[in-house]
Amino acid sequence: MKRIAILGATGSIGKSVCAIADQFPDEFRITAISANTNIDSLRALITKYRPASVAILDETESVKLQGEHTGNMKVFSGSKGIMELINLPDVDIVINALVGFAGVAPTIRAIECGKTIALANKESLVVAGEIIMELARRKNVRILPIDSEHNAIWQCLVGEEASGVRRIILTASGGPFLYASNAAVENATVDEALNHPKWKMGRKISIDSATLMNKGLEVHEARWLFDLPAHKIDVIVHPQSIVHSMVEFADGSIKAQLGVTDMKLPIQYALFYPQRKGNETCRLDLSLMRELTFMPPDKIKFPCLQLAYDALDAGGTAPAILNAANEMAVEAFLNKKIRFGDIPRIVESALAGVHRQPASLESLYAADGETRTFASNIIHNAIAA
Ligand code: NDP
Repeated sequence: MKRIAILGATGSIGKSVCAIADQFPDEFRITAISANTNIDSLRALITKYRPASVAILDETESVKLQGEHTGNMKVFSGSKGIMELINLPDVDIVINALVGFAGVAPTIRAIECGKTIALANKESLVVAGEIIMELARRKNVRILPIDSEHNAIWQCLVGEEASGVRRIILTASGGPFLYASNAAVENATVDEALNHPKWKMGRKISIDSATLMNKGLEVHEARWLFDLPAHKIDVIVHPQSIVHSMVEFADGSIKAQLGVTDMKLPIQYALFYPQRKGNETCRLDLSLMRELTFMPPDKIKFPCLQLAYDALDAGGTAPAILNAANEMAVEAFLNKKIRFGDIPRIVESALAGVHRQPASLESLYAADGETRTFASNIIHNAIAA
């Protein structure tokens, strides 16, 4: 029985993890869960899973929740609440399903505590990939990738030597605007941008998928997870989203992992690794696939992808600047304060305007804060104009 903590249990990935726990009740027990503000979903999860520990951001809500559960359940609150869950003795695996920069510190804490991490929070590796991977090596902690592309690459690399890898090929669905005109993309509405053709995901990653920033963030993730330079990580658009990613080897062979578009598949692989378990829900019927197509990404229509490569090449605090500016811009777009086309412009301005430094935990946190101030000024001016 593996005891799991789900950070971000009320989100899209969090719910898929719960579904795996439901499917394999003898294998997993959910002992700790967190939410940010979604108290109703958190209450429902508490009723269903009876976790020993819970974290919620709001202090008042945490006091209320503790009052409702006078038994053994402990409720933590504030941004420190999540950190408390990580080192509990009844937690074997930490699943980081938080969204955004908020996931960085919990990833680092989990490694420091020597806990195995199943990592969905891609922003952790974007912001602090080098530091996190180095710390994980030192502490001998395993980071199990949940993101479907990285999970696919991980599966393709089993039994292979690193020296035989020529390149990684990340597949991208292309998002909702793959076939849209440049003008339509510039002025896309929130509903259009959230309407992903293949995946049902949280709001932030859905917008990232529409701008292709998501693929750029995944290039960063792959760089650190698989210790490959950026020029060995390519992106190809594959609208059917059946091939989840590929690895090309020195002899020209390409291995791919295929599967349905259901995050339960990579999550299950990570949670049972190195075993494979049967399930009845993730079946792919290839006879129904009329075609599997591939095309290069349009980096002019979707400038975020190139911006992400540029930030990775620049190194230091540039990826943290990219990430913070993107988070700010995506939030402003979701709140209908800026246009869809403003997102890459804000990221580009931040990369040009925020002072860069070599990477250390202090400088990365400072860059995040400075970029948020910088971006919020641009957003404020955009609204005023
Ligand atoms: P969601 O927005 O659906 O869920 C995010 C979770 O984190 C929620 O539980 C939310 O709580 C909590 N949360 C949000 N902000 C904070 C904060 N500041 N502090 C603490 N908790 C917070 O996101 P997803 O599940 O879609 O994505 C999670 C991560 O996984 C992202 O990094 C994403 O890029 C990555 N990922 C997601 C995939 C998907 O299919 N969804 C696929 C591959 C990767 P509350 O509900 O209370 O707001």
